[in-house]
Amino acid sequence: MVKINAFGSSSAGNSYLLEDGDSALLLEAGIQPKNMKLDWSKVDALLITHEHMDHARYTKDYIRRGGFSVYCTPGTAKELKDVANYRVMECEYLEQFTVKKWHIIAFQVEHDVAEPCGFLIRTPSGKKVLFATDTYYIKYKFKGVTHFMIECNYSLEILQENLQKKRLDKRQYMRILKSHFELGNLIDFFKANDLSKAEEVYLLHLSDRNSDEEQFINEIERITGIPTYVAK
Ligand SMILES: [Zn+2]
Ligand SMILES: [Zn+2]
Repeated sequence: MVKINAFGSSSAGNSYLLEDGDSALLLEAGIQPKNMKLDWSKVDALLITHEHMDHARYTKDYIRRGGFSVYCTPGTAKELKDVANYRVMECEYLEQFTVKKWHIIAFQVEHDVAEPCGFLIRTPSGKKVLFATDTYYIKYKFKGVTHFMIECNYSLEILQENLQKKRLDKRQYMRILKSHFELGNLIDFFKANDLSKAEEVYLLHLSDRNSDEEQFINEIERITGIPTYVAK
């Protein structure tokens, strides 16, 4: 059975544990290990989507706690050389790799870093988990995903209101548009994708000031008909 647990999911820090039976993957390394309750010996690998510190700051500390390797794109590996200088495995876009009973593919996403990726993960029991965060657009369509772990950072309506009320400046506004996933874009993404096997949706990386948790859950559930949770 697949279990998803968030240790943190925001620009302050991100890390998730994806478990299936007695196997586990860690996704992102942006939360202090001392604040995470888990059996480190159970972890088969650490996957990192990009080099921003809210996703990668504690990479070295995670590696020290377990015997696992870090998987990321070559571009991310280069950027991370200070925090991950050993046990780094580079994965190219769209080339499947296997770690124990996990089969994983990194795919390109759109974010303001060197070589950002999302991961499509086949779990030991045959579930399909899509993990995508920090991207303003996803060009791929996926079939048979059972668990969506996907960013829903902001809604354009709230963002525009915050700009008008000067809660953020034009530069911040423009950066968000070109780096993070918006509610309407996520709705379009779900409409374009095969949801026939979907069991759960986890919304990730909500912005403190540009999001509305309850509204996001309601809208995504209404569109998809799938139980939806906000990861925190
Ligand atoms: Zn982030
Ligand atoms: Zn980022």
